[in-house]
Amino acid sequence: MNRSTDTPVILGAGPAGCAAAIALARNGGEPVLIDRDAEVGDALCGGFMSWRTAATVAELGIDLAQLGAQRVTSLRLFAGHHSAQSDLPEPAYGLSRRSFDSALRRTAITAGAKLEIDTIRALEPGCARGEAREYRSGSLFLASGKHDLRGAARPRIARDPALGLRLRIATDPGLNALVGESIELHLFEGGYAGIVLQEDGSANVCLALRKSLLARAGNEPAHLFEMLAGESPAFAERLEFAPANPHIDTIAAVPYGWIAQNTAPGLFRLGDQAAVIPSLAGEGMSIAIASGIAAAQAWQQGGGAAAPAYQQAFARRVRRPIRVAEAIWHMGENALGGPALTQMAQHVAPAARLAMRLSRIAA
Ligand SMILES: Cc1cc2nc3c(=O)[nH]c(=O)nc-3n(C[C@H](O)[C@H](O)[C@H](O)COP(=O)(O)OP(=O)(O)OC[C@H]3O[C@@H](n4cnc5c(N)ncnc54)[C@H](O)[C@@H]3O)c2cc1C
Repeated sequence: MNRSTDTPVILGAGPAGCAAAIALARNGGEPVLIDRDAEVGDALCGGFMSWRTAATVAELGIDLAQLGAQRVTSLRLFAGHHSAQSDLPEPAYGLSRRSFDSALRRTAITAGAKLEIDTIRALEPGCARGEAREYRSGSLFLASGKHDLRGAARPRIARDPALGLRLRIATDPGLNALVGESIELHLFEGGYAGIVLQEDGSANVCLALRKSLLARAGNEPAHLFEMLAGESPAFAERLEFAPANPHIDTIAAVPYGWIAQNTAPGLFRLGDQAAVIPSLAGEGMSIAIASGIAAAQAWQQGGGAAAPAYQQAFARRVRRPIRVAEAIWHMGENALGGPALTQMAQHVAPAARLAMRLSRIAA
């Protein structure tokens, strides 16, 4: 099967799927891009766009600053009563997923991708079964992100899996003065909270933590926020700006550290379906976009048959950033490791910047 006889079908129009669609369409691939949502939603995400994400989307013709993204120039770490600040190696951005994913979808359609709205239920060799119809192709691009499809699910083996929670705090001069141009990471035993300002000045407060930590809060997200505020004065100070009964989004069982080492011919795994970097690195979207571009290039050269070689090469490319991010995540979620990490960032600034660089995917 090669590119001239086969229509590439992309399952999922998030960052990975849209990046593949743009790269394929610009090279005459005429991809079909399928998503279950007709309206772009606001995916649960920290909303931190690293300098690598900014550079990779620039290759696709998207300028984050033009989308109104907030500039982020420093990292602030908090653990208990300790805190540290370090400049980022290069400027980054804060942007809502609604804005980012909308820009990607627009760009993909303008480039010539055909968008279809359908929910894919299962995957078989050469066929994706949707609710509306079946999609047959020797070049399937699996980009359903956090959502596994029957027939291609990622293994879930963690004893104490990671969860994601998110709440938004409306723009407020007091909170904006506190957070400013920083990405804040508040480290707790069993997880962390990231805070960054987004394009409208609102703050995205996103937590990734062990299920056992939520269990300690009686499995009540609102109680969890109160519990963590009780452990950290800085986090409590920021939460004072939150509404009385905030809406809290949740996502279960995130397989941090998982990497697809191989795949079958005809099935390109992209984004979170290719590799899942611990989110405190803020590099998931960069990896997603890089996977879409790399898979499209592999397809241009070898059609669906190129999928295994692409997957193996991409696994090698993401190994270092994912292992570095895992080491930082494990240290940060440890009762003694969080304060130690914060003190190291305070006293050995070059080491903090090196860790930030090593947890990026190579160009
Ligand atoms: C708590 C948390 C915080 C994070 N914070 C950051 C951060 O600050 N910065 C960063 O860079 N990364 C962050 N990430 C990682 C980032 O969110 C992901 O790596 C990124 O979204 C992966 O992109 P994707 O395109 O693979 O998947 P997704 O963004 O999940 O997109 C998948 C798309 O597929 C569609 N879809 C899903 N299932 C189906 C189906 N059955 N049929 C049809 N369509 C379907 C969805 O509607 C969606 O549009 C975070 C992750 C978590 C869990």
